[in-house]
Amino acid sequence: MNMVMGVIGYPIKHSLSPEMHRSAYKNLHIDYAYHAFEVSPANLKNAIDGVRGLGLKGLNVTIPHKVEVMAHLDEIDDLAVEIGAVNTIVNVDGKLKGYNTDGEGYLKSLKEYVNKDIRNLNTLIIGAGGAARAVALTLTKDGVNNLVITNRTLSKAEDLAERCAKFSEATVQTIKDIETNLQDFDIIINTTSIGMSPNIDEMPIKLDNLKEGTFVSDLIYTPFKTKLLIEAENKGGKVLNGLDMFVYQGALAFEKWTGLQAPTDIMRSTVLNHLKGVK
Ligand code: NAP
Repeated sequence: MNMVMGVIGYPIKHSLSPEMHRSAYKNLHIDYAYHAFEVSPANLKNAIDGVRGLGLKGLNVTIPHKVEVMAHLDEIDDLAVEIGAVNTIVNVDGKLKGYNTDGEGYLKSLKEYVNKDIRNLNTLIIGAGGAARAVALTLTKDGVNNLVITNRTLSKAEDLAERCAKFSEATVQTIKDIETNLQDFDIIINTTSIGMSPNIDEMPIKLDNLKEGTFVSDLIYTPFKTKLLIEAENKGGKVLNGLDMFVYQGALAFEKWTGLQAPTDIMRSTVLNHLKGVK
């Protein structure tokens, strides 16, 4: 059976999802197609109606549509409702269901990297935007129970902590307090866009008080190592970028559409080669 999937965003031309998914289809010798569709906000409803009309199997959804797309779907998974955003749509017999695989993709990459039970580790999330909501809610749902959230706009961190309370208690601290208490944390996760290309000289927090051996993770993967990760590594931190999160969020979508296990090694090396400029 020939199936068509894709990604919608605005703009979309820099997305690495088409290459990543096509490499998986090729590796498994399946005749599926994946396209990037540039959809303006004004055309979002038409695009989603088109998924039903044309019988596409599913879509990934990226900026700026992750929240607004929810109004056009038939059903939304519980975790995506909590997060308030959808990044994956699955078409089952004309009914469109929305999921959010960002948080689960991140959690899988973090667990693999830390390689021990993370539930009782002291964990800090920097940021309170869309990616932070996905990560914080997925972590607390999974049992992480010592979560602290900090953000430039503290009211947003407070709102996110309240949402997390449904699963597990999360508290809020100012960035200034965090910088003083940094040695308290075992895991530090940057979910803000600070440090992303082209602003590669910026850092979301100062690391003067970082404890040796702390896991420092950044959702960003362009640059491959942000200034935060470079400084953390210099201070004896163990660092993880956002590449595996990207691969695993895509792999989870792949599995929902195809029912097959995603070849994540192939998907990762495809993205890596593109980041290095290798075709
Ligand atoms: P978002 O909803 O716009 O949230 C942005 C966050 O960054 C907010 O907490 C915001 O703080 C903070 N921020 C932005 N500029 C700042 C500045 N100059 N100073 C202080 N704080 C600042 O964005 P998002 O969708 O969550 O994405 C955040 C990052 O995650 C992006 O770099 C994105 O590429 C990355 N991401 C990666 C993956 C992956 O697969 N690896 C997936 C999703 C997202 P305020 O609340 O104070 O504005």
